[in-house]
Amino acid sequence: MPAELPEPLDVIAVGAHPDDVEIACGGTLAQLVRQGYRVGIIDLTDGEPTPASPGPEVRLQEAAEAARILGVHVRHTLELTNRRLFDSHEARLALAKVFRRYRPSVVLGLAAKTPLASPDHYQAVQITDAAVFYARLSKWDEQFDGLAVHTIPRQVWYPLGFSSLQLPPAGGHFIVDIGETLAIKLQAIRAYQTQFPPTKDRLFRTLEGQNRFYGGSAGFEAGELFFSSGTLGTKDLVKLVCP
Ligand SMILES: [Zn+2]
Repeated sequence: MPAELPEPLDVIAVGAHPDDVEIACGGTLAQLVRQGYRVGIIDLTDGEPTPASPGPEVRLQEAAEAARILGVHVRHTLELTNRRLFDSHEARLALAKVFRRYRPSVVLGLAAKTPLASPDHYQAVQITDAAVFYARLSKWDEQFDGLAVHTIPRQVWYPLGFSSLQLPPAGGHFIVDIGETLAIKLQAIRAYQTQFPPTKDRLFRTLEGQNRFYGGSAGFEAGELFFSSGTLGTKDLVKLVCP
């Protein structure tokens, strides 16, 4: 019999490395927490080694501090290997077990390849998509330590990076208003001192510019871009177009 399950999470955001989720959707996660949702972050690897970091212990401390700043309820780092992350049965199972334990309503995952950046990101796309599917598969209990199946109702993708304006094919793109949480997001990213020393300060200006552009396109002070895996619908046209 599986151990007792933890309290469910409403939203789980999955990244390849600690800082992916903060950069792409930290403002949205902080906003969800303020709205009363239970939010978790899963990093598939510890992100190490990297050039300026003394090692995984420091990186994991930074990740814990970033999670504290965002206010998320759960953060786990899986024991998959940075720089050697590959879509595999074992990786899919490891993440699907987390989904079965925390039973989220929405999973946020990476949207696409990130040319000139880590190839782990594209592997994370495939692992996350597969794990969302694996979480609901019946007649396979022995693969999941006896954890019960869980069907995740909605999956949403987030883009990572600044070098492309191209939108991946998806059910629809939308902006989440992060006007009230942009500063919290930037503070959470600054918790990664080993990844963003003063010589990389341009990233913060670029990221803020991108978030202000996305937000402005929807009438907000700042925003983050997402893609729905299915076509989005509404029962109230006015509330949809006048948020
Ligand atoms: Zn990354």
